[in-house]
Amino acid sequence: MAIRPRVHEISKGFGVPSKEILALMEGFGITLKNHMAILEEKELDIILDYYTQKFETKDLGHVFQSQKTEEPKKKAKKETKKEVKEEVAVEEKTADEQPHEEKKQGKSVRYVDTRSSNVDLDRLDTEKIEKLVSDDKLIDQAPTKQKIKKGNKNKQQKNQPMKKEMEQPVKEKAPKKEEPKIVAIPENIGVGEFAERIGVSGVEVVKKLFLLGVMASVSEIIDYDTASLIAEEFNVTLEPEIIVTDEDLLFQDTEDDEKDLLPRSPVVVVMGHVDHGKTSLLDAIRDTQVTATEAGGITQHIGASVVEINGRPITFLDTPGHAAFTSMRARGAQVTDVAILVVAADDGVMPQTIEAINHAKAAGITIVVAINKMDKEAANPDRIKQELTEHDLLIEEWGGDTICVPISAKKKEGIDNLLEMVLLVAEMKELKANPNRRAKGTVIESRLDKGRGSVATVLVQKGTLRSGDIIVAGTAVGRVRAMLDFKGNRITEAGPSVPVEIAGLSETPQGGDIFYAVDDEKKARAVVEARKQKIKDEKIAAQQKISLDNLFDCIKEGEMKELNIIVKADVAGSLEAVKQSLEKLSNEEVRVKTIHGGVGGITESDVILAQASNAIIVGFNVRPDASARATAEMTGVDMRMYRIIYEAIEEMESAMKGMLDPKFREVVLGHAEVRQTFKVSGVGTIAGSYVADGKISRNCEVRVVRDGIIIHEGKLDSLKRFKDDAKEVASGYECGMGIENFNDIKEGDIIECFEMEQIEQ
Ligand code: GDP
Ligand code: MG
Repeated sequence: MAIRPRVHEISKGFGVPSKEILALMEGFGITLKNHMAILEEKELDIILDYYTQKFETKDLGHVFQSQKTEEPKKKAKKETKKEVKEEVAVEEKTADEQPHEEKKQGKSVRYVDTRSSNVDLDRLDTEKIEKLVSDDKLIDQAPTKQKIKKGNKNKQQKNQPMKKEMEQPVKEKAPKKEEPKIVAIPENIGVGEFAERIGVSGVEVVKKLFLLGVMASVSEIIDYDTASLIAEEFNVTLEPEIIVTDEDLLFQDTEDDEKDLLPRSPVVVVMGHVDHGKTSLLDAIRDTQVTATEAGGITQHIGASVVEINGRPITFLDTPGHAAFTSMRARGAQVTDVAILVVAADDGVMPQTIEAINHAKAAGITIVVAINKMDKEAANPDRIKQELTEHDLLIEEWGGDTICVPISAKKKEGIDNLLEMVLLVAEMKELKANPNRRAKGTVIESRLDKGRGSVATVLVQKGTLRSGDIIVAGTAVGRVRAMLDFKGNRITEAGPSVPVEIAGLSETPQGGDIFYAVDDEKKARAVVEARKQKIKDEKIAAQQKISLDNLFDCIKEGEMKELNIIVKADVAGSLEAVKQSLEKLSNEEVRVKTIHGGVGGITESDVILAQASNAIIVGFNVRPDASARATAEMTGVDMRMYRIIYEAIEEMESAMKGMLDPKFREVVLGHAEVRQTFKVSGVGTIAGSYVADGKISRNCEVRVVRDGIIIHEGKLDSLKRFKDDAKEVASGYECGMGIENFNDIKEGDIIECFEMEQIEQ
């Protein structure tokens, strides 16, 4: 998409009054209405050309000049193709065409390196580049955009800071007059500060940014990639500025020397489609262990357990399912080495099986397949092996390298064999860690215990954790008081791959938080405070997004001329109706514009789109899924849910008038997944459910969501744990729910539990 700036944006960028630009255009016979007028590309070219000359920057405007006449354009194209392999090059004029540009000969090709996935193409005017370089390669690069937006740009940047430098074109065309200056900058930097550091004026940088299609004033922040491109223009090479923070000093997470590494036991997770037998398998594994050791040994539930096979331990994470696994991974925690993929022999590869395969692959985890329910008559393991090959899992007996073990979790058959195979796989991976250093690991789960305060299960991954150690996990800090192993025995130290439950933290950390044992308690507290502050700041920054609550202020201040909305609805009919009625609300001051509409629940990609285009999401009879909610919370995207069209219209209308004053806000308490349904005569349908997050409370309101669409909203009729009535059921537990006047509950439905909370103004 071409960037179409408004007059005032350009004026801000060049630091000239809008009036001057309007007058300039007038001179070219183009009448623009006012400073809000959107500039067409041609008009933009004129302005850039004009100010190029005015500010006497030799190479400014060359991008646009080449479009003016046919001749140079063709030539430019040809040459570009010759020189460019994978890079997208923006050609500058060669010396013979523009002799007065001699100065610039030293660097005749400007490269935009798209291979490193570092460059945020979204921020560059790709259309303009495309015109100059009609190369299919550019289209090939399109997915990179997505990746960059979501991706871990910073990490990549750190890994290959010098890449750009190495890939710079050979500078052989002209003798170099001066060595490039090397300047260190942080990952994000203000345009003004950046200009200062590379020793040019802010206006010059702003102009260069325009040429790349980035509208930024001197006060705005640009990222490292953008800065690098600009720096090249001034013959400056950038390098990432390394700032040593308290945090770095505190953790000093250095790599271990090979000679300090000792073998460690594998950490295993069980994955697979619902009802294929994950829980049964974990139970079967634990049962074999209990009978093998002391009779009646009660296994404490700490979220992880250790089993021993032929005297060799294996650590199991007890939370089956991908959600926990994926959210941990999303937070950067890599805890597992091997995934046991459970596939029911009578059912085959199902959607969650595929999901599990993809997650495991993405995390680089070895998969061991357990074909379960072999005791069943309908068991057909060959079909499953066949289906697995379609997902790139070729089993050993067919010449592949995936180990596949037939089992029956119910009859406890094949379990030992499976565990032996897991050990075999682990052995091949040569898992090692250094036990002789301060501990580092990951929080598996945590809870608040009435007697013991904050209690967390952690998996030690490096070093040895000892009771008495000071640890930092997320924003929690504290001294490890009591340390229990998975059987509930008190222990005093835990090495790599050992899960332990610890008490003594200041607050409950989150699953997936990395923990470190540290020396300096005072510094640890300071770091935690800094982290908390950062989270607060990010929240505040996120709140500055457009929302119905601040809409009127933005209109008043003239910042808001277009209100972007994304509409998601349950059916196509209502989608159209909502879109149209909301767009009709447009008035002289604000235009309501639907930038995206669709049928179905609100997804993460909707939120990302809203975030990128500063839009509000309007949901009609639909709900956001878990990742959409999390992303919206993080980015501050406003999502508004309605069940009646006029409510949507009314709220939007009053928001535009600044009359919005919501006294109540909905607070979602938790979600439960319906696993099974039972018909109870005289009562109705009971949903046997699993509380996936938050909690379900007896007095809350509920809505039943199927595939992201609300099919019912009402009150709970009953909430039970086993046979007993429950006031509240927490996440991780199962419960039975009856819903008032509603019996159409189906397996797989999500029950969202919420209450209305009064907002303090
Ligand atoms: P999960 O959803 O993957 O955790 O599956 P569960 O462990 O809850 O098992 C789902 C259903 O399959 C339960 O009714 C189990 O009793 C049954 N099941 C599990 N393993 C076996 C098995 O090996 N053989 C048979 N016949 N049934 C099994
Ligand atoms: Mg289960």
